[in-house]
Amino acid sequence: MRNKIVAGNWKMNKNRADTAQLIEELMSAVTPSAAEVMIAPTFVNLAEAVTKLDGSFIEVVAQNMHFAESGAYTGEISADMLQSIGINTVILGHSERRAYFGEDDALLAKKVDAALKAGIRIIFCFGEELQDRKSGDHFKVVGSQLKNGLFHLDGDSWKNIVLAYEPVWAIGTGETASPEQAQEMHAFIRKTIAEAYNNEIAQDVTILYGGSVKPGNAKEIFSKEDVDGGLIGGASLVATDFAAIVAAAQ
Ligand code: PEP
Repeated sequence: MRNKIVAGNWKMNKNRADTAQLIEELMSAVTPSAAEVMIAPTFVNLAEAVTKLDGSFIEVVAQNMHFAESGAYTGEISADMLQSIGINTVILGHSERRAYFGEDDALLAKKVDAALKAGIRIIFCFGEELQDRKSGDHFKVVGSQLKNGLFHLDGDSWKNIVLAYEPVWAIGTGETASPEQAQEMHAFIRKTIAEAYNNEIAQDVTILYGGSVKPGNAKEIFSKEDVDGGLIGGASLVATDFAAIVAAAQ
């Protein structure tokens, strides 16, 4: 059965003290809702965030990881390192990783395999750019990111996959896909998975929407049949906004 999730991607924001403060604020502002709640602080603050949120309903997740188990990969972080500090979920394929760090489908497929092998749940991000939508290629682009990143997996592996559809033109821009555009794409994603696997897997996978979700639009977006919550960037850095978005996921 799919479940609701609201996850905050803090990106490269908040130093150690700011992280501690935002966590304090979240602990008093966010109340349990129907959704699983996650935050993704930056790597250096993950361990402390895990300790602070021990026993809380807020899960700490990572923004990225490397595909190798260990070795000469300066600056990188492995699945084992994440698990050793209590991290069991990782965001992979965020459009900023794809755009600024050259992460392509083939690399992401390797990261997906490494995370699953280690038993780490994945929030797999994908979505079209503005020119794809303008040219009418958005379904083709999204379908191919999905296929190239994930369709080599066996059906069982999908239990550890959460999808995050994030149209690049809506990330951090203040532009949001309309609830209808989000629903249309999420339905397409489920149909594509049903065709490649089966209807059960397609119906069971949690599909988040990401792209300028705010307290004012979250409820309408989350009310769509195939939208199971959100991956939140900017608004996850303000405790009261994030709390309101979590509350909107009923
Ligand atoms: C994101 O970075 O995943 C995101 C959705 O950002 P924002 O909410 O700021 O658009």
